[in-house]
Amino acid sequence: MSRVLFTSIGAALLATMLGMPAQAQQRPQIETTKVDGTDNVYIFRNGNHQSMFVVTKDGVIATDPIAYGRPNGGQQYVDEIKKVTDKPIKYLIYSHHHYDHIAGGKAFKDAGATIIAHKKVTEHLAPLKDPNTVLPDQTIDGKKTIKLGGTSVELLYLGPNHSDSNLVIRLPKEKIVFIVDTIPVGSFPGRGMIDFFPLETEAFITKVLALDWDRLIPGHPGQPNGRLGTKDDAKNVLALYQDASAEMRKMGQGGKCWDEAEKEFKLPKYESMPGYANGLPMVARRYCALWGRGT
Ligand SMILES: [Zn+2]
Repeated sequence: MSRVLFTSIGAALLATMLGMPAQAQQRPQIETTKVDGTDNVYIFRNGNHQSMFVVTKDGVIATDPIAYGRPNGGQQYVDEIKKVTDKPIKYLIYSHHHYDHIAGGKAFKDAGATIIAHKKVTEHLAPLKDPNTVLPDQTIDGKKTIKLGGTSVELLYLGPNHSDSNLVIRLPKEKIVFIVDTIPVGSFPGRGMIDFFPLETEAFITKVLALDWDRLIPGHPGQPNGRLGTKDDAKNVLALYQDASAEMRKMGQGGKCWDEAEKEFKLPKYESMPGYANGLPMVARRYCALWGRGT
């Protein structure tokens, strides 16, 4: 108990020193909240990662265990679901293959869930044999609709974007989409650029904008205050990627990649966004690869 107290005081002190808002200082590590205006849609947050789950009269459809580096994180998520409902967890959907979102699925499998993901998830992860990540039981390519207890959940593959395995998970009735990492809400892209598909992502966001939805649940809490995203956020992110691409194109085609271009690359229009300073070199390198290397 005293250690927990000490740790939270330490975190609050650090947050104060870093000038973080009061709300961020007081956030618990784990939090489950019902999405406003829905009967049965929840967000489970663990630290700076979050996922969506839907409770129906016949069982639960969950997404992303978000337990990378947290050996008990999957079980903690299952326990949070059990606080909301005594219905069984029928499905666990992986948003894409990155461990920070999908490690920890064993607790769901043990609870009887069927794990579903895009087929590339298995292709990428089977050779790696990660001890903390359970491979999917079923894979899809294209579209699948899960119907359970009066709720429909659509799984859509709309081409490569943040990775080549990202699904759009859409609730048609609630007009909500769960999209992880490709469309950061209110923050600048960062490390996720490493295996990002620049041109395909522009096509992907255009397809996402054409779908019927009002609110976007991101895989990392939206800025500020953990807000959900809107179509305007998606349009802004598309513009950001297009601006980054256009800026680096000049330098890449001018023979300045890597070193000179990476040093010169700036996007002043976005410099007030959270994550700009840390993310800028990642964005620069990815677009240098595109325009200065052809990759
Ligand atoms: Zn990712």
